[in-house]
Amino acid sequence: MTTYSVPLREMRFVLHDVFGAADTLTALPGFADATADVMDAVLDECAKLCEGVLFPINQSGDQEGCTIKDGKVTTPKGFREAYKQYAEGGWCGLTADPEFGGQGLPETIDYLVGEMVGSANLSLGLYPGLTQGTILALTAFGTPEQKKVYLPKLISGAWQGTMCLTESHAGSDLGLLRTKAVPNSDGSYSVTGTKIFISAGEHDMTENHVHLVLARLPDAPEGSRGISMFLVPKFLPNADGSPGKPNAAAAGSIEHKMGMKGSVTCVMNFDGAKGWLVGQPHKGLAGMFVMMNKERLFVGSQGISVGEVAYQSAVTYAKDRLQGRAAATPSRPDQAADPIIVHPDIRNRLLASRAIVEALRALSVWTHIQVDISHKHPDAEVRQRADDMVGLMTPIVKAGGTDYGSEIANACLQVLGGHGYIREHGMEQLVRDVRITQIYEGTNTIQALDLVGRKLGIDGGRLFTGWLKEVDDTLSRVSGRNDMAEFAAPLKDSLERLKAATAWLLEESKHDPNARAAAANDYLRLFGLTAFAWMWVSMIEAALAKKDSDAEFTATKLHVGRYFMQRLLPQVGGLDAVMRAGSKSLMALAEGAF
Ligand SMILES: Cc1cc2nc3c(=O)[nH]c(=O)nc-3n(C[C@H](O)[C@H](O)[C@H](O)COP(=O)(O)OP(=O)(O)OC[C@H]3O[C@@H](n4cnc5c(N)ncnc54)[C@H](O)[C@@H]3O)c2cc1C
Repeated sequence: MTTYSVPLREMRFVLHDVFGAADTLTALPGFADATADVMDAVLDECAKLCEGVLFPINQSGDQEGCTIKDGKVTTPKGFREAYKQYAEGGWCGLTADPEFGGQGLPETIDYLVGEMVGSANLSLGLYPGLTQGTILALTAFGTPEQKKVYLPKLISGAWQGTMCLTESHAGSDLGLLRTKAVPNSDGSYSVTGTKIFISAGEHDMTENHVHLVLARLPDAPEGSRGISMFLVPKFLPNADGSPGKPNAAAAGSIEHKMGMKGSVTCVMNFDGAKGWLVGQPHKGLAGMFVMMNKERLFVGSQGISVGEVAYQSAVTYAKDRLQGRAAATPSRPDQAADPIIVHPDIRNRLLASRAIVEALRALSVWTHIQVDISHKHPDAEVRQRADDMVGLMTPIVKAGGTDYGSEIANACLQVLGGHGYIREHGMEQLVRDVRITQIYEGTNTIQALDLVGRKLGIDGGRLFTGWLKEVDDTLSRVSGRNDMAEFAAPLKDSLERLKAATAWLLEESKHDPNARAAAANDYLRLFGLTAFAWMWVSMIEAALAKKDSDAEFTATKLHVGRYFMQRLLPQVGGLDAVMRAGSKSLMALAEGAF
């Protein structure tokens, strides 16, 4: 069995000691209640739900999966009851507007809630994750009437939200989509088309579904500039808000997948379904991006979630499994062999997993604090600066969180040897489950292209320059401190390398149209590792401040931080070299020669 207990101490360390989040958040309008005590109480409460309710049905949910009969989907045993508890606990509307029944708490705390829910049960956590994105999009773009009818139901968790973008011929390239929306005389639209791969498209845990569907109006221009967003309910709401007549929006079938089997993925048929425009005609992609930006950070957190549970499970196993002897001194001389945690390779896999998960968690919390500032700060300039940071970090958190989450799950499976490959232990489920996170919400290559093709170029590099200033502030703060030198120096080196790599990339792309795309994935990883180094410097600074009150915690942080700087950060050199090899060796081979 996998093992998981919510890393509350680590979460609190990042929230309070590293970032002093409560001070920043309570100063923002509407967040006066988000004190450290309130945030701690929220984390405690959610931890109970995760450990006691969601985690125990994770493995059985994978084994049973979802089924469909006569268009109705049944989720695995225990999911309905667990989801009910989740919804009744108010978790679907944690950050939503109190006017519609939400709790109005910061996104920062919601990130940590999402992380622990994902560790406990990735499949179940995806359902409310999608609803939260729908809430955000409707809050931003819905009409007052749409908000009044739909938001309270979504926020209470009574209704499920979905995002319906993908079609069989339109995945990464949404400009190709063909679903049509034709205006009706009553102001509604008839939506016709087939969407594939729709998570939570149909199931038995909620009384209604609210699909946000991308479609084309009859006068729509070609490509991505001709896409509009429509709200299409499964049941048309009655005047009193209860689900009424069935709409022509139904699941045709469900996908048989590699993992996340407790999370249903549907083919959705819209057959003249009644829908309503959300936002401006032809501007649906902008509307959907509000949802997608939230979901991209959420998917990044899914990678971190799996990394954490895989790490914990591998540590439990490595301390227990006896094979071979320690090279120096036996640790269990009274027994036939030592536990495998004595072996350098096993330690390497465990430490790499931990060092990355902790850096990713810190980076995600920092990014979500920026999300909150960008939503709430009274000063427009401060809001813009924070929004810049969110924009720059989103591809790094999404692609970094999920690429590393997947690598960590694999590394931790290796710690279990053959037992990891056997179903019973649950580690192979983590490897299967996390794999999709690298693909959905825009593949990780699409994230890397977003970083190099869009984010770096905005306003002459404003986002990148803003971020460099944040890192420089940290470096100035710790400069001259002997106890920080071994951490600050490698960060400085890596930062210089990143700056040079960025300048090289911008120059190279003036001559070579393939330069950015050829470099994108390596560049994102180089950037990610540098951002992790920044987080490690921040964590070490905070840990050293606790050295008198919590010497053991500080010592452990120093060890793991040192490991990161010495054994992971040097990878930036290789990435830099690969990136600078340019596109020629990639593009030279003729298509027919493959
Ligand atoms: C389990 C599951 C759940 C999903 N849930 C949802 C959902 O709820 N709603 C929804 O709308 N969709 C959903 N999706 C769809 C998902 O978002 C898409 O699968 C994803 O965006 C990729 O699209 P595609 O599969 O068509 O791949 P393609 O776009 O065909 O891509 C194939 C490969 O080509 C690469 N590629 C594509 N274009 C470029 C380019 N310009 N440059 C470089 N490389 C490129 C991609 O990175 C990828 O490696 C889900 C998919 C799955 C499998």
